[in-house]
Amino acid sequence: MVAVPTNLLWLQAGSCGGCTMSVLEQGASGWFAELKTFGLNLLWHPSVSEESGEEVLDILARIESGETLLDILCVEGSILRGPQGTGMFNRLSGTKRSLLDIACSLAKRAQYCVAIGSCAAFGGVPAGDPDPTDACGLHYDGAEAGGALGRDYRSGKGLPVINVAGCAPHPGWIMETLQALATHDLTAADLDALGRPTFFAAHLAHHGCSRNEFYEFKASARVLSERGCLMEHLGCKATQAIGDCNQRAWNGGGSCTHGGFACISCTAPNFENGRNFHVTPKIAGIPVGLPLDMPKAWFMTLAALSKSATPERVRKNAEADRIVENPRRGK
Ligand code: SF4
Ligand code: SF4
Repeated sequence: MVAVPTNLLWLQAGSCGGCTMSVLEQGASGWFAELKTFGLNLLWHPSVSEESGEEVLDILARIESGETLLDILCVEGSILRGPQGTGMFNRLSGTKRSLLDIACSLAKRAQYCVAIGSCAAFGGVPAGDPDPTDACGLHYDGAEAGGALGRDYRSGKGLPVINVAGCAPHPGWIMETLQALATHDLTAADLDALGRPTFFAAHLAHHGCSRNEFYEFKASARVLSERGCLMEHLGCKATQAIGDCNQRAWNGGGSCTHGGFACISCTAPNFENGRNFHVTPKIAGIPVGLPLDMPKAWFMTLAALSKSATPERVRKNAEADRIVENPRRGK
């Protein structure tokens, strides 16, 4: 518990609202109780706050004038710069101002600025080709530093935008970031090269997947619903995707790969421009996207060896839609 309330403002720009839906799942007693526990005072959130119209404009005006201190600015959704850099594709209701203008103005006042989700971090879904809205992230345009705030932006506490990437990000990633900021426990050293907090960015989504045994033996699912590893044929990018998705449950249990859905690397810039999310691109039968830190030749050698050593049980289960053979002692 911290004594001084930490003022938090949450804006939605080019957003589907999914990040908010995600964070509302946080905590056994609910998001609002969780915010209170860490002294986080929600000044306003467009989906959950009672204030509307003039009351909201008043809240924003007080922040812009410096009357209300803004500790944490959260922006969900990409910043739409179109048409022609005006940002007018996305205006704040009741004003003639764009979210581009408002986000940039408030970011100057914020002690910390947090991009909630891959849209706010890198551009995300609205930035997918073709993009007539000219969408970008707060501090990145895809993998390029810059975005709406410019590459030199630093918040009041001297930090770059903290990118809680993911589409949607895990509620725990959002709340652990906000809690660490409320207790002043997050520094630049806790961010990776793309501004993502390392408490989740130090892991690959592959770590802890319930299909790991199938991966080890290269026992692959060929069609959706089979139990095998989804990397060889069904497009799983988790060996290259940052995130601890398979180590902490979503909505009380599960993850994309646990549910039979290939990882699409939604925490990465430009993930939205991938095509055929459920097909593994190959050259001469070899998957193009191999594990991040493994030389290709080693991977190919190990894959051939493990395929030749695949236990019958693992092979059968990989190609079934349920476990058909249980582990038992060999003869
Ligand atoms: S990151 Fe995904 S869930 Fe969040 S606003 Fe963008 S599209 Fe929606
Ligand atoms: S399905 Fe994906 S995450 Fe799971 S073991 Fe295979 S490569 Fe790893």
